[in-house]
Amino acid sequence: MSAHPESEDRLSALRAEDHFKIWKSLEDQRVCILCEKKFNGHEVEITWSAEGRYELHCPTKECNSGPHQWVYPGSLLISDIIGRTGGVPSAKNETGHQPSRRHRQKPATYD
Ligand SMILES: [Zn+2]
Repeated sequence: MSAHPESEDRLSALRAEDHFKIWKSLEDQRVCILCEKKFNGHEVEITWSAEGRYELHCPTKECNSGPHQWVYPGSLLISDIIGRTGGVPSAKNETGHQPSRRHRQKPATYD
């Protein structure tokens, strides 16, 4: 058992554990939404877990994100823009200080 799987194993590990995106080759690139670093399949940190499964981790040392936190290059920019500016007026803030009374509703009092 090797700590550094061969290329084919590496690709199959990526395919097996990353259910969110398609890995066509180890040249495929991903961007981590946590550390915002770009990396490819060669750089993904693959470990072999005790359960006999591959585990994929972001190659950035301080970052331990997994495949569900990786996006295709380019899609980060789009989601980033949507996420930060949104283009949605802050309508929620205007009603934000009105406490929700949903949990206090009693149908009986209306009768
Ligand atoms: Zn990362």
